[in-house]
Amino acid sequence: MTSNDIPGAVIAGPALWPAQAHVPSVLGRQLVIDRGEGSFVHTTDGRRLYDGTAGLWHANVGHGRPELAQAAYDQMMRLETYHTFARFSNDRAMELAERLAGISPVPDPKIILNSGGSDAIDVACKLARRHWQREGREGKKTIISREFAYHGLHAFGTSIAGLDFNREGYGSASLVPETVRVPLHDADAVARTVAEVGAENIAAIITEPIQGTGGVNPPEDGYLEAVQRICRENDILLILDEVITGFGRVGSMFAAERYGVSPDLVTFAKGVTSGYAPLGGVFVSPRIWQAFYVDSPDTPVLRHGATYAGHATAAAVALRHLDILDDEKLVPRVAELETVLRTQLDGLAERVDAVADVRVGGFLGGVTLAEGLAADKVTDRLVDLGFISRPLRGGTLQISPPFITTDDEVVAFVAAIEQAVVDEA
Ligand code: PLP
Repeated sequence: MTSNDIPGAVIAGPALWPAQAHVPSVLGRQLVIDRGEGSFVHTTDGRRLYDGTAGLWHANVGHGRPELAQAAYDQMMRLETYHTFARFSNDRAMELAERLAGISPVPDPKIILNSGGSDAIDVACKLARRHWQREGREGKKTIISREFAYHGLHAFGTSIAGLDFNREGYGSASLVPETVRVPLHDADAVARTVAEVGAENIAAIITEPIQGTGGVNPPEDGYLEAVQRICRENDILLILDEVITGFGRVGSMFAAERYGVSPDLVTFAKGVTSGYAPLGGVFVSPRIWQAFYVDSPDTPVLRHGATYAGHATAAAVALRHLDILDDEKLVPRVAELETVLRTQLDGLAERVDAVADVRVGGFLGGVTLAEGLAADKVTDRLVDLGFISRPLRGGTLQISPPFITTDDEVVAFVAAIEQAVVDEA
């Protein structure tokens, strides 16, 4: 059998489509994980690997936590879920929202719960546009994002991403119209773009506080404050995408605290449950939610509901997970791990010529390889050595182990990176 227009045989493969991959490049060499414990995972072909990326930046409290399995079991035995977006709700989602409000990076928030980061991005962008439309400023629709940004792969996330390959082949430059991208660390470019597009046409600026998939790029000093100032001066909403950074990854509960910014909307996902249940959401500031809570027949309706919004079992897992973060003091532990990682990566950069740059922000690290050295070759070699990293944009290796890892494991991980780089250079 051959495909319609590409010469070559169609490869038979497993039914599960690896949909973010060049399929022929991964078939036959996929690593299938069947078990996890702490900072390690096991593959079906018998390897035990250090999870140096915490899966997809999600497994912050580590793998195989019985407390979280128990929380899911207990909740399912009472009620798997019940939808939460109108007259009916469920008690667990309501309890979780109250708990999240208590640690929110947005004062006095309302919280929208859904199934993951891409969902959260779509809601935040819709809300931003809806906010201005409701205020009678219909022109304010443009969403400004940054080059190399990753905001998930739903319609808004695909459109605003700064990774162009994620937009290829859908028939237009952007699934959602009115999106604009600005250079990475350049607040002056943000100001110029606002002037060019016109504040009367701009709904929001969205940014990851530390850019993740784009290569682990922490903000340069003063960048986020400058963007916030531009937003305030021009009546533009600020959306912080904390899908990676939220719930402790930067040594404070949210990056908004660490970098001293006050966004209007904050998206979250992964770290709210450490991946033990698919859950995401948005913290919404009073400036936006109050109009929908006015006691009047004329009050608008947001019209955003999904079957699994506020999923009771996911909420139960999140509640127990927040206990673990507190009980095991994992957020202050991240601050210690950041220091260990920084010391190790600085040493690596000094010793190894084939390392062009290292960056650390919270317990997130990026190692950028010298030109000509392929990051995927280095991550393949790392697997042989027993460690998982991931190639990110720009020839960068991702480092984001679980918070429960030990100092010695971080040291061993960076030593393995050094060996893999030297082997492949
Ligand atoms: N936003 C950021 C910053 C992310 O890193 C991701 C996923 O990696 C998303 C949004 C999308 O989240 P999800 O994969 O849960 O849809």
